[in-house]
Amino acid sequence: MRRLFVAGNWKMNTTMASAQALASEVAAEVARSQPNVDVAVCPPFPYLIPVGISLANSPVMLGGQNAHYEKPGAFTGETSLEMLVDVGCRLVVIGHSERRQFFGETDELVNKKIHAAWQRGLDVIFCIGEVLQDREANRTESVLSTQLQGGLAGVEPAQLGKLVIAYEPVWAIGTGLTASPEQAEATHLFVRNWLATRFDRASADAMRIQYGGSVKADNAKELLSQPNVDGALVGGASLKSDQFLGIIRAAAELSAG
Ligand code: PEP
Repeated sequence: MRRLFVAGNWKMNTTMASAQALASEVAAEVARSQPNVDVAVCPPFPYLIPVGISLANSPVMLGGQNAHYEKPGAFTGETSLEMLVDVGCRLVVIGHSERRQFFGETDELVNKKIHAAWQRGLDVIFCIGEVLQDREANRTESVLSTQLQGGLAGVEPAQLGKLVIAYEPVWAIGTGLTASPEQAEATHLFVRNWLATRFDRASADAMRIQYGGSVKADNAKELLSQPNVDGALVGGASLKSDQFLGIIRAAAELSAG
């Protein structure tokens, strides 16, 4: 069984005080319960350092929500991957649908960021997902294929150990609508088979594919119990420690068998 991975994407939320409090609560409970799952939180950039302090000596990983692919230099307003590494990030989220939708990120840009993140030693959570019109028009698989093809251009099988894919149907992000466990499983299976064709079966079988889209404590277990769902990328519910810890608990229970 692949080790389940629950990551919280805090988006443009929290204050410094609430970010530290949330991180401390998550770290304390993870230290107490020692779940057999990977856990990460991705706070807004200004709070990476204080959250990193709150997570000190914790297995909870720190991640960035985005970064520029260029080396440090004259890119006003941007944050480099070197900076993420410098403040203790182990991973970075790339290609989130909000970056694609509101900031014009293309598959080509996403691809540059993925390669650049690996060059700096970061793991990558690479987000893909279809909008509602695509799902309704039966275009989910072709949209995901295009995103995977573009985002993973030039990627070698040996690099896949540093990659997690997050399947996030855009219509389910922050809407309260969730893909049914069957929809999630069918789509994750499609993604895994796509990876097997593009790379090889063993690499595809080893890769973790998270589901994201209105995951909460009370729907986590049925989603995470699907054979090809290897964790969750959690937005709204990761801002409430009881919800986020409930999702981690569901994952831990499934991991315990
Ligand atoms: C996300 O932003 O990655 C996400 C899945 O958000 P939510 O859980 O709020 O739908």
